Amino acid sequence: MFSPQNGSWQSALAGAIRNVDELCDRLGLPDACREPARLAAESFPLVVPESYLARMQPGDVHDPLLRQVLPLGDELLPTPGFSADPVGDGDAKAAAGLLQKYDGRALLITTGACAVHCRYCFRRAYPYGEEPRRLDDWEPAFAAITADESLDEVILSGGDPLMLTDQRLTDIITRLEAIPHLRRLRIHTRLPIVLPNRVTDDLLRLLTDNRLTTVVVVHANHANELVDDCAEALRTLSRAQLTVLNQAVLLRGVNDDADTLAELSTRLIDLGVLPYYLHQLDRVSGAAHFKVSEERGRELIETLRRRLPGYALPRYVREVAGEPFKTPL
Ligand SMILES: *Cc1c(COP(=O)(O)O)cnc(C)c1O
Ligand code: SF4
Repeated sequence: MFSPQNGSWQSALAGAIRNVDELCDRLGLPDACREPARLAAESFPLVVPESYLARMQPGDVHDPLLRQVLPLGDELLPTPGFSADPVGDGDAKAAAGLLQKYDGRALLITTGACAVHCRYCFRRAYPYGEEPRRLDDWEPAFAAITADESLDEVILSGGDPLMLTDQRLTDIITRLEAIPHLRRLRIHTRLPIVLPNRVTDDLLRLLTDNRLTTVVVVHANHANELVDDCAEALRTLSRAQLTVLNQAVLLRGVNDDADTLAELSTRLIDLGVLPYYLHQLDRVSGAAHFKVSEERGRELIETLRRRLPGYALPRYVREVAGEPFKTPL
């Protein structure tokens, strides 16, 4: 059974909150939040959809969902060791819009748009303006994928690939499925978490109605995200012919304790989603206040290893620029 669709995802997106004062008013946040938030939002604007807002606790500045999206004065502090491109994306360009770092897999930057702006985003300063927009602009990327028979998987990333229209997604998938050596399609998306009504019957059809094995990797960091319409969207995905995985980022003040991480994994499993990665924070400028030490991260994972079934334990990894895989920690 597919879920009923209440309103279009496009109108939910158009109705997303993009104004600091509106966010503060709606949640009844202290006035002291406003000025720093306005300043921090100048370099990376606030975006948060209503569905995500509805899962926050009003009046709580420490709410784990709010912390992921509320601009803070901390973002403006100088942070040695943190930079605009901490993971070496700039050196991994195989063609316009195409990144290749690892054997067998290449990643398409399909759009710079997202339905939410996560303050710790490692691509918060990515030069999306230089990437392809019209379908024709993608030809060099498709040509590079076609020429490299060692590739068997293409990852649609961004930004968030599910921000594309169904038509554009269909166009891209149709091109990819015609490349004989490709076997898998992977979609890296946060929309099922932050804008769950993007998971429509039409989307499921276009993701399943092609010859490629499709893996959807969502991005949730806290069990409080996995309720209501989001829980329904994840169930809908996991009951379709899709493998659904989650990647989370270890974030100070959001999920840096064992109970929170255990509950995240348990909720994901309940919804048919396997925990895949727990990422060490990428050192992107503006995100230093989210950092949890690797030592603390390892302690947390060891605690989880004792508490959870093996399949519910995410791999704790860090992306090191130039390394041939995500480095296990
Ligand atoms: C993270 C990443 C991948 C995927 O790596 P997996 O370990 O297979 O999840 C692929 N390409 C790029 C450029 C990446 O950053
Ligand atoms: S959804 Fe992903 S790409 Fe978009 S802002 Fe959040 S972390 Fe960055």
